[in-house]
Amino acid sequence: MIQGSTELVAIVGSPVAQVKSPENFNRWFADHQQNVAMLAIDLAQSALDDFVQTLRGWQNLRGCVVTVPYKQLLASRLDGVSERSAALCSVNVIRRETDGRLVGDIVDGEGFLNAARKHGFNPKDQQVLVIGTGGVGSAIAYSLCQAGVSHLVISDISHARVEVLGDLLRSAFPQIVISASPASLEHFDLVVNASPVGMSATNDNGPMPLPTALMETLNAKTLVADVVTSPAVTPFLAMARRLGCPIQTGPEMALAQLGNLGHFMGVTPLEI
Ligand code: NAD
Repeated sequence: MIQGSTELVAIVGSPVAQVKSPENFNRWFADHQQNVAMLAIDLAQSALDDFVQTLRGWQNLRGCVVTVPYKQLLASRLDGVSERSAALCSVNVIRRETDGRLVGDIVDGEGFLNAARKHGFNPKDQQVLVIGTGGVGSAIAYSLCQAGVSHLVISDISHARVEVLGDLLRSAFPQIVISASPASLEHFDLVVNASPVGMSATNDNGPMPLPTALMETLNAKTLVADVVTSPAVTPFLAMARRLGCPIQTGPEMALAQLGNLGHFMGVTPLEI
């Protein structure tokens, strides 16, 4: 029950009917007897500046998760952002400080890494491939670099995006080898699809982000992950599983990120 004393957090985007954060957070708040609730806000872009100003004055609101299409648009409107948010010009969570200042971070990559660690993956000195260099792929690539991988390969149907992200990461992490377009997958410790390819696929023969011949070079020890949340097992993951690889799904990443989002807003511990 939301009461006058209930503290609030929100998720803002458009549309928001499909987002899972409110049910996940509200269940956690109820299970842990927390007088906190999450609201979903479907915001028109024309109201973005007013919304930011309202957040600054909203005294019983602790923070806000940010989803498509506002991750970049909000990053430039806050009072402070983390180093990785500044580098990637993107936020997916905002905290309202008690004086009304709004600070942001992007924790998609941290959520992804939490889930991967649960599969026994330790990023230090590993060779990794990230397919898709949009909002989520860039955040995962950045977090993998922060966590100390030795070699990162990025690929995308947009060569321009690969170049932009490659240049950004090479200047932030000069010690890491960063290259593009792998000829084989056999030496990778982790292969991640961070593109939307496979979303809404209805069977295992749907679209994949890599050619079948390249997929067949996968080593059975490689952790193969996808960020797509529906279906949970995409055609890409289904093929990796047939090849004997351990797999990590998009819903695992989403769930693993709850603690990062809640902790940043100050309403949950990091590990939940
Ligand atoms: P985006 O549009 O910012 O980026 C997508 C990128 O994929 C683009 O750079 C595009 O060029 C690239 N791409 C498209 N087709 C490709 C292909 N065939 N091969 C290689 N690259 C290709 O999107 P985003 O915000 O990064 O979201 C990506 C996916 O992540 C979506 O499916 C989204 O639903 C999902 N997502 C999952 C979680 C989670 O917690 N699991 C969280 C957020 C988003």
